[in-house]
Amino acid sequence: MKEILLIKNGELALKGLNRSTFEDMLIKNLRRKLSGILECDISKSQSTIYVVPTEEDPDMDAAVEAVSKVFGIARFSRAVVAPKNMQQIIEVSGKYLKDQLAEVKTFKVEAKRADKNFPLKSPEISRELGGYLLKNNPHLKVDVHDPDICVTVEVREKYAYIHGTQLFGAGGMPVGTAGRAAILLSGGIDSPVAAYMMAKRGVNLVGIHFASPPYTSQRAEQKVHELASEVAEYAGRIPLFVVPFTEIQEHIKDDCPEEYFTIIMRRCMMRVSEAIARQQKCGALITGESLGQVASQTMNALQCTDAVAHLPIFRPAIGMDKAEIIEISRKIGTFETSIEPYEDCCTVFTPKHPRLRPTLEEVEKAEAGLTGLDDMVARAAEGARLVVIDPGAY
Ligand code: ATP
Ligand code: MG
Repeated sequence: MKEILLIKNGELALKGLNRSTFEDMLIKNLRRKLSGILECDISKSQSTIYVVPTEEDPDMDAAVEAVSKVFGIARFSRAVVAPKNMQQIIEVSGKYLKDQLAEVKTFKVEAKRADKNFPLKSPEISRELGGYLLKNNPHLKVDVHDPDICVTVEVREKYAYIHGTQLFGAGGMPVGTAGRAAILLSGGIDSPVAAYMMAKRGVNLVGIHFASPPYTSQRAEQKVHELASEVAEYAGRIPLFVVPFTEIQEHIKDDCPEEYFTIIMRRCMMRVSEAIARQQKCGALITGESLGQVASQTMNALQCTDAVAHLPIFRPAIGMDKAEIIEISRKIGTFETSIEPYEDCCTVFTPKHPRLRPTLEEVEKAEAGLTGLDDMVARAAEGARLVVIDPGAY
């Protein structure tokens, strides 16, 4: 039977007058996500988006998998279409749900009558269809509170739609509705999760990665491409800027007290990132920092880092435990890549005893001893190399 997808958007329903802008962005994102996977028409009506395949033999499993990664969708269902006639609704439902009902013990029927001209009221539709399904599936029992499957009939303008239990969407807001921000992407576990979390809020991402060849290898950079490509499954295309960071790191290492090395390096990362972010018209920076996780992530250290930035810095993982971050990274599919053992520029020159509570004053003093740092920052930003990452490209 020819299936379609019925998509209900989540928070979008709350957005009042903006709603249609949000829905249009969601449809645009769905079109992009489904291109190459499903030939289809996508349209909207009464806060539902319809994805109707136009090809002969659509791969609906692949389409469901793709749609489940598009932000802005609370719930969606695979459904079939029936003429608006109770007898036909019953016949189509029986046939479409046969296999699904064979596998469960309890069910209920829920009817939604958007078309108030339909001759039967919702409880009557439920009763008639429920009675039929019970008669034809003697193993089934009705459970209105916690059924194994919730058979739903939606009687809408033109047709009736029939589906089983709804599937969960990725939630959040459509990417592109909340502006653009630059994610500082290392090869670690935390920053891909932070990228995912902000994309979920509707943010379009630009990636920035600091590489320090020859201390860091081409393979380490490749790993970051892979992570960006995995995040792009949810976030859409990500332009990734790879910043040559060697000159700055060597300068800091040679001419600055070791205990301030990391914090000054992070301040440089912020300066370079901000230059790229502004040029890319980003409204914020994003990092994967989590309070107290390492020396550079104490409150004092974050204060010293923030002091050089003028854009807001979003740190969606700031209040999360490592275990919670790992849970998300497993869920979104970045964990296995993140734990591949390649060196990062941060780990290359890690001091043995970093200052845990640096004051801004002492950091600024140590930094003042580094001549030519501003020029190096400008050179690093200008020398950034652009790689464009498509979903699943690696
Ligand atoms: P992650 O798991 O994301 O690497 P981490 O716990 O290893 O984080 P740090 O190495 O201190 O923490 O980095 C903190 C944040 O700084 C990262 O989450 C990331 O946003 C940014 N960052 C660190 N190294 C780099 C890099 N080489 N390129 C770009 N951003 C980086
Ligand atoms: Mg790291």
